[in-house]
Amino acid sequence: MNELSRRKFLKGGLAGGAMVSLLGKSSKSEAAPSFGGYPDSMGVLVDLTRCVGCRSCEAACNKEQGLPAPDLPFDDMSVLEEKRRTSEGAYTVVNKYEIPGKDHPLYRKMQCNHCNEPACLTSCFVNAYRKTPEGAVMYDPTVCVGCRTCMIACPFYVPAYSYSSVLNPVIKKCIFCYETRLKFGRPPACVEACPKEVLTFGKRTNLLKIAHDRIRNYPDKYVDQVYGEKEVGGTAWMYLSSAPFEEVGFDTHLGNDPIINYVKEFLTVVPMVLTIWPALFAGFHLLATRKDVQNKENSAGK
Ligand code: SF4
Ligand code: SF4
Ligand code: SF4
Repeated sequence: MNELSRRKFLKGGLAGGAMVSLLGKSSKSEAAPSFGGYPDSMGVLVDLTRCVGCRSCEAACNKEQGLPAPDLPFDDMSVLEEKRRTSEGAYTVVNKYEIPGKDHPLYRKMQCNHCNEPACLTSCFVNAYRKTPEGAVMYDPTVCVGCRTCMIACPFYVPAYSYSSVLNPVIKKCIFCYETRLKFGRPPACVEACPKEVLTFGKRTNLLKIAHDRIRNYPDKYVDQVYGEKEVGGTAWMYLSSAPFEEVGFDTHLGNDPIINYVKEFLTVVPMVLTIWPALFAGFHLLATRKDVQNKENSAGK
């Protein structure tokens, strides 16, 4: 969609508040059914017990993706004193966590987790996202209408909006180095740059085996969970940790169902209303989170 049609769309659709049924369908679930993920897709296992917070992965990503130079150089570790989010200028960031009872901090690399059933994809009514058989979740700026629903839908708060691009802002996020590496079977730049072998690239199914082997062989070193194995339907990027995941900044209340499952039934009976779609998604996301918290509390109380 060019800039003119994007503006026309926003005027007639979002800004005008009209009820629009896109693609001639009455619901998103008809337009894009739930997606189960590709069995042979690739992934990355991130072992937080090995990370030293050197930020080499950030530097490699910056170079590979041709991103702007950061305000402070990548060897300036003072940035680790604040918690950062991924942004239009940084598709991956490393944050530092002081863990109670541990004499050293843990570092956590964040980027798009390339979900098996991505909420960004299922929430996008113009189908600007796709999941490739290799596992990457890709975004097409030529289709995007700039509604930013994907930013609200993503349970990991990943998609960033390029507000700095006044004329034609687009969503920016990690693309799993798809065009330059993943589709040729090569590991992402950040994986290759890590000097501590924190990041293991491979078939998702193999990575899960490696992860569970590590937990089994070193039960004192790892908590017994692979974050991303099941959360929100599973993700391509998965994590091992020596501290409970909530202490390293992970949302442990997401539940295992893909976010779209919480809206599917509702959307089959309610016509698509563009103006309330983002609010709907935010509400159901919250509901899903609360439901999981409640389930956990109920089980703990048993
Ligand atoms: S982490 Fe967010 S942006 Fe990435 S695939 Fe999942 S829902 Fe989409
Ligand atoms: S996979 Fe590629 S785009 Fe994503 S964080 Fe790593 S280097 Fe950046
Ligand atoms: S390059 Fe490796 S060790 Fe360095 S911060 Fe990134 S993940 Fe951690």
